[in-house]
Amino acid sequence: MNYVSTRNKSKVFKFKDVFLKGLADDGGLFVPEVEFKFNDEQLNSLKGSDYNQLAKEIISPFVDDFINDHDLTKIIEKSYSSFRKNNVIDLIKVEDRFILELFHGPTLAFKDVAMQLLGNFYEYYLEKNNEKINIVVATSGDTGAAAIEAIKGKKNLNIFVLHPHNRISSVQRKIMTTVKDNNVFNIAINGNFDDCQNLVKSMFEDRNFSKSINMSGVNSINWARIIAQSVYYFYSYFLIQDKTKPINFSVPTGNFGDVYAGYLAKKMGLPINKLVVATNQNDILHRAISEGKYVSEKVSETLSPSMDIQIASNFERLIYDLNNKDDKLTSSIMKSIKTDGLYIIDETTLKKINSDFLSASLNENEVLKTISNVYTKNNLILDPHTAIGFAAFEKVKLDGNNIVLATAHPSKFPDAINKAIKMNAELPKELQYVLSEKENYDIIENNLESIKKHITERVK
Ligand SMILES: *Cc1c(COP(=O)(O)O)cnc(C)c1O
Repeated sequence: MNYVSTRNKSKVFKFKDVFLKGLADDGGLFVPEVEFKFNDEQLNSLKGSDYNQLAKEIISPFVDDFINDHDLTKIIEKSYSSFRKNNVIDLIKVEDRFILELFHGPTLAFKDVAMQLLGNFYEYYLEKNNEKINIVVATSGDTGAAAIEAIKGKKNLNIFVLHPHNRISSVQRKIMTTVKDNNVFNIAINGNFDDCQNLVKSMFEDRNFSKSINMSGVNSINWARIIAQSVYYFYSYFLIQDKTKPINFSVPTGNFGDVYAGYLAKKMGLPINKLVVATNQNDILHRAISEGKYVSEKVSETLSPSMDIQIASNFERLIYDLNNKDDKLTSSIMKSIKTDGLYIIDETTLKKINSDFLSASLNENEVLKTISNVYTKNNLILDPHTAIGFAAFEKVKLDGNNIVLATAHPSKFPDAINKAIKMNAELPKELQYVLSEKENYDIIENNLESIKKHITERVK
């Protein structure tokens, strides 16, 4: 399979480059040159597979030259052995909906599903090629933890994680900062998540710097993450017995990553009806999908910090698709988003979007109410992100089998849960040690040169 940048189709790349670079040199995102689709017979043959088998079948066509099927199978098994569920995820019925629990990995959020795999891909590649890499990543709380857990202690790799100081939950921070391995570096930035993301972007764009440290990224635009995430759409779809009704997914999202993975699954042939983009009050994606107005506003802090974002990086992949894979047009749209902070979507394009995507946004009160209602009715605690996905189905009113992606374990967000139901959600016993362990991180100003200096001094 060949890949191109959404901003320049004339140059082709292989999975190795797509995976290691993350972002194309022209600032675009990598996408397959030609879309991949299973035929009906192939799709049928995937039903009934266990999670690991299914993952291999879905991931294999995208990584052909990078790893053979035998090694891929081994890597998938290794990656998912760290999960507390045999088949990685769980699907439970709650009221009239299904909840797809994706948080049974080592850091209690869905990001482990992709990141465990990426960590092992790095190890596999670096060992074979005798290279060293420094990973630099911005986090709104969960990516960093998942990445650290996937990379810690691995040879030939260091990881630097930038998180917004005092803007992630204490449990989110502790899961990252209590890790002791000496290839892990936590940095708290005096700024918000978008500041952290912009710092990382600038470091990548500084070719001298990024080359000098052999920098690589694992943020949610990394294509390898997207493919790994599309697997659970297939897996949960196949678990639903009643196929007489359409199957819809509601996805709590900020960066448009997880929901794009669902869209990719649909493009691969999985007959998903609608994908519901569920946002908190940082609702740029909701305004884009419901009114055609992709307009950046100021980020506000919410109870669901992993979605406190006003730049939905992965949206560029959809823009590219909607504009018939026109790289020049995508490039100019992205330029105007950067300079003017907006993209107005015309009616025809919006119709196209709405054939796949609907959206809803929840304010803080609605989030708290949802957590408390669901708890009272079902004795089940939803984390604030999942609560947004859950309630989104009440706003968009779709008939069918409605599946909510549960993206994090409630114990990761103790303040939100306490506010909603005056209770604590207990951490799984495997993670309770983080509460009392010593933390280790540096606080640095929101300044590119300071960060670069800090990282350079620590690269071994
Ligand atoms: C990262 C994250 C999200 C949003 O993921 P996107 O990549 O923006 O789709 C939602 N919920 C939780 C708990 C997360 O950690």
